[in-house]
Amino acid sequence: MARSYVHEARRRVGPKRKRVLSIVARLAEEHPDATIALRFGSDVELLFSVILSAQTTDVNVNRVTERLFRKYRRLEDYLAVPVEELERDIYETGFFRQKAKSLRGTARVLLEEFDGIVPRTMAELLRLPGVARKTANVVAAELGDPQGIVVDTHVRRLSQRLGLTRQEDPVRIERDLVKLVPREDWGRFPHLLIWHGRRVCDARRPRCEVCVLNALCPSSRVVDTQPA
Ligand code: SF4
Repeated sequence: MARSYVHEARRRVGPKRKRVLSIVARLAEEHPDATIALRFGSDVELLFSVILSAQTTDVNVNRVTERLFRKYRRLEDYLAVPVEELERDIYETGFFRQKAKSLRGTARVLLEEFDGIVPRTMAELLRLPGVARKTANVVAAELGDPQGIVVDTHVRRLSQRLGLTRQEDPVRIERDLVKLVPREDWGRFPHLLIWHGRRVCDARRPRCEVCVLNALCPSSRVVDTQPA
């Protein structure tokens, strides 16, 4: 994209600080059903689903956990079987050795240090084996106390296209986003971008002509003449 074109596009949509509230409002109206796609029935199942979702799709995780959570009902159950059995039970999510280790380690720490209850704070969540920042962010947000903004591939692409960040690294993107997005929207913001990314702003073929963010997006291929 030529430099003058980029400049013109940014000028057309105005400063990001002014646009971000309208972006959230329009996306919330467009995708009222935007929530986490993983299926779980308890805080522990949420945490374990998120751990299993690394490097695979939510659909795949849901398929595996439907059986897994019927078999492993308590944290102790993950420690009672030979590790090879747990590895087999989660095999289809990929990276099954590392993930089995994470599930068992997390089950042990939850039992020994947290009375079997999933903690809420980032610092505590990060003490669980196999729980990195992204997992902790997703879990904290889902438990009602978002501590940051989850950045996945959709969030990264849409934040860049919408001109909310120029960064590439997820940690830096998150740093930009938390300065812009109001704290009360930290939990739902990633879901809104993820669903919009899946339904409209496709990685290769963004459907700008039907996008509700047209007038607010410097990357739009269709210039909306209506005021933002
Ligand atoms: S206008 Fe186009 S590039 Fe911008 S968010 Fe919508 S679909 Fe994506």
